[in-house]
Amino acid sequence: MSFASLGLHQDIVNRVSELGYEAPTPIQTAAIPAILAQRDVMAGAQTGTGKTAAFALPLLHRLLTQKLSDPTDSTVIRVLVLTPTRELAQQVHASFVNYSQGLPVKAVVAYGGASINPQLEALRQGCDVLVATPGRLLELIMKNLIDLSGLQTLVLDEADRMLDMGFIIDIQRILKKLPSERQTLFFSATFNDEIFALSKTLLKAPELIEV
Ligand code: AMP
Repeated sequence: MSFASLGLHQDIVNRVSELGYEAPTPIQTAAIPAILAQRDVMAGAQTGTGKTAAFALPLLHRLLTQKLSDPTDSTVIRVLVLTPTRELAQQVHASFVNYSQGLPVKAVVAYGGASINPQLEALRQGCDVLVATPGRLLELIMKNLIDLSGLQTLVLDEADRMLDMGFIIDIQRILKKLPSERQTLFFSATFNDEIFALSKTLLKAPELIEV
């Protein structure tokens, strides 16, 4: 299996090759075609399996092909990745920046415990992909500082940790502000009744992936 045969744009295939990725990992092989087909996904995946690239690469593919087919299209937030911690938000953001180097796609990160102003300034300069922690995102939403009406894809990364950290109310408040017609990708290292209950409210006919 190769990244090209999964259907990714040549620029993205070239980028992962530059980074020394020789072949997709099992979660990438399973998730990339499903995400490219715009399906919802529920994936059980630990850190270290390559799960970030499993969602970042196909989402970048879609953004890139949209921009190439309509260069006049304005930049709006089309992808939102929610993470439980600032550290994970920074890592996921760094991955998007790394994979999209040289491509006309912008990723911005927003997390609490840091001044909101530089994050707002970055958002104002254009954002296709926003990676955020729930509390700071809710602050941006409630203060009307952010427009999520053009959102295409929501990613919940480490959903089990988000619930463990007590973010369920925040997540439910965020969900109310998102377009209901969207793709949702749900990643969790562990599964229990609470995780299944949350996933059921979010996902439509998901592809189930366990690696
Ligand atoms: P993650 O599970 O997303 O935390 O990724 C773990 C590490 O694997 C990261 O350092 C990635 O750069 C690396 N990685 C992701 N996909 C691949 C791949 N297909 N080949 C080699 N390394 C990879």
